[in-house]
This record gives sequence, C-alpha cells and structure tokens, in this order.
Amino acid sequence: MDFVSKVNSLYGAKCYSDFPLKDKTAFKSGGNCKYFIEIKSLRALQNALEMLGEENIPYYILGGGSNLIVSDKGYSGAVISTLALNGVFVKEDKLFAMAGARLPEIYRFALENSLSGLEELSSIPGTLGGAVYMNAGAFGKSFSDIIYSVETISDGKIKKYYKGDCKFAYRKSIFQKNNEIILSASLDLKSGEKGDITATKTEYDRLRRLSQPCGRTFGSVFKNPKGYSAAKLIEGANLKGVKVGGAKVSDKHANFIINEDGCTTKDALDLIKYIKRSVYNKYGITLKEEVKYLGNIYDT
Ligand SMILES: Cc1cc2nc3c(=O)[nH]c(=O)nc-3n(C[C@H](O)[C@H](O)[C@H](O)COP(=O)(O)OP(=O)(O)OC[C@H]3O[C@@H](n4cnc5c(N)ncnc54)[C@H](O)[C@@H]3O)c2cc1C
Repeated sequence: MDFVSKVNSLYGAKCYSDFPLKDKTAFKSGGNCKYFIEIKSLRALQNALEMLGEENIPYYILGGGSNLIVSDKGYSGAVISTLALNGVFVKEDKLFAMAGARLPEIYRFALENSLSGLEELSSIPGTLGGAVYMNAGAFGKSFSDIIYSVETISDGKIKKYYKGDCKFAYRKSIFQKNNEIILSASLDLKSGEKGDITATKTEYDRLRRLSQPCGRTFGSVFKNPKGYSAAKLIEGANLKGVKVGGAKVSDKHANFIINEDGCTTKDALDLIKYIKRSVYNKYGITLKEEVKYLGNIYDT
C-alpha cells in the first residue's frame, strides 16, 4: 500500500499528495508539499506520526498559516494540519482548547461562558497551537499572560507543561526549540459581564483595523528590537510602499508586507532582505524575522 492509502486507512486522518500550500497560508504564495495530512483526533495524529517515522518522512505542523511563508519550491515532507483538532470546553475552572481551534472561536466560547481575558488577543489570525508556539500578542498582552498549561506530544508520549515551564518571552516559547507538537492548552480566564467583554473586544478590533492593513499578509515581518519599533525603523528608512515584484511594504503599517497580484515567495524574501539591509545601513540595527519559513528558502 502506498503512503497516502496507508494514512487514509486511519480513522480520522485524510492524506493528499503533491498538495498546494498556497491556499493554506494567509500570504498565499509558495509551492506544494509532498503530503498534506488533515488530522481529526489525537489517535489519528499518533498513528500518522508513527507512519511518518517508519518511512523517515519529515513533517511540519501547520495551524492557520498566518505567520508562515512557504518556499516557491514547496516542501519535500508532510505538512500536518491541526485545523480539524478544534474542540473547546470549560474544564473545572479553566477554558480548555485543542490546538486547531481558531482564536475567534475560542473567544466566542469564552463570551458564551462569561469569561474575560481574550479580548485583546482573539482577533489575531490563526489557531491556539500557533498562538502558543509564537507566544502571540497584541496591545501589550501575550498568550503567556493567560496560559495555565499546555499539552504536547513528543515521541508518542503526551507531556504537560505548566506556564512556568514554557519559557515564554517576547514571541518565544520552549516549543520553538523542542519541536514538540502542541495538542491543547488550558487558559486562565476571569469571570466577566458579557456586555463589558463585548465592548472591550469591539474597541480592540477598532484599534486593530486602524493600524493594520487588509489583504494577503503574514502579520509582522520582524520582531521589535529591544527598545525600538520595527515598523518605525522601516518607516524611518523610507520604505513604506516600496515594492519588489508583487511584494509591497504596506503604506498603513511598515512592518507588514502585502502580496499584490502575482507575488511569489521570492519577491517577499527579496523585499525582506532589502528592508534588513536598508534598516541596518541607516540605524546599524539588524532586524530579526518574526515570520516562520517552510521549505528551502535559499532555493526558492
Ligand atoms: C493580518 C495579520 C495580523 C496579525 N497580527 C498579529 C498580532 O497582532 N500579534 C501577533 O503576535 N501575531 C500576529 N499575526 C501573526 C499570526 O497571526 C500569529 O503568529 C499566530 O499566532 C500564528 O498562528 P497560526 O495558527 O496561523 O500559526 P501558523 O502560521 O500555522 O504557524 C506558525 C508557527 O507555529 C507552529 N505551530 C502551529 N501550530 C502548532 C502546533 N499545534 N504545535 C507546534 N507548532 C505549531 C508552526 O509550525 C509555525 O512554525 C498576524 C498575522 C496576520 C496575517
């Protein structure tokens, strides 16, 4: 039996070969992966990981694809999508969500249960797994502020991390180092009034719309260097509106790159290099990418 049929014989898994990743990322560029696996249960994930291990196939975990840029040549391994692993529940006094749950869904569930704490964060595109991995944040708050515990799988074993074990820092977590797959997390939210929760969330969404561009983008390209705003440095280097091929520095927020028609990953990478060089030449500061890369980006 070939690999695709083997994975498809598992209950709760669906596998495709030579799958276009373009439509699975917010930036909408890049090539195909060798295998694309949708997972609906923990058991299916465990079995698929075992099969990948037996065949020595490397894999990459994909949440919402909101912070990811894929090589134009694609990825020669398997991409595992967590989107169908998306339950959300209240367990004891914590909100518990599976890795593939999207943040707005988690917010809606929290609101139904009069739980406050996600108002600043829930319009960040993507899944809970991606948000924990990235320690995503907005308006001075990060996921690390509301995480109680995180469950992962590594070498077939399920592990539990309490917040203090996760080594959270600005856009960093231990999961960026240990390559474990985040399965779920429990969030420490507080009781609140539905009306207050909705009003706070509406205000943060308004502020987000004022400062961030619409369109195909992967969010902030660079992390803020200590004591600086990456957007201000890029703007100060006169780069707003600069284009390489179909990739353009947003006129609204200089730390965002927009995919205009026909943009390739190579265009975006060339623009990233150009921004880094220009900011370094002007300020002597080296910007570091927040965006994650998949595939061989040196051979796009
Ligand atoms: C318009 C726009 C606005 C944005 N605004 C913000 C913002 O305000 N603040 C902010 O912090 N970010 C922002 N981002 C970036 C992005 O939304 C966040 O980084 C988000 O947390 C990524 O989640 P995701 O599920 O899409 O992850 P993906 O892009 O799918 O993956 C990101 C990384 O996480 C890893 N990963 C994902 N799920 C798992 C898992 N279950 N286990 C292990 N690793 C995993 C992936 O392998 C990858 O390395 C924005 C992006 C866009 C497009």
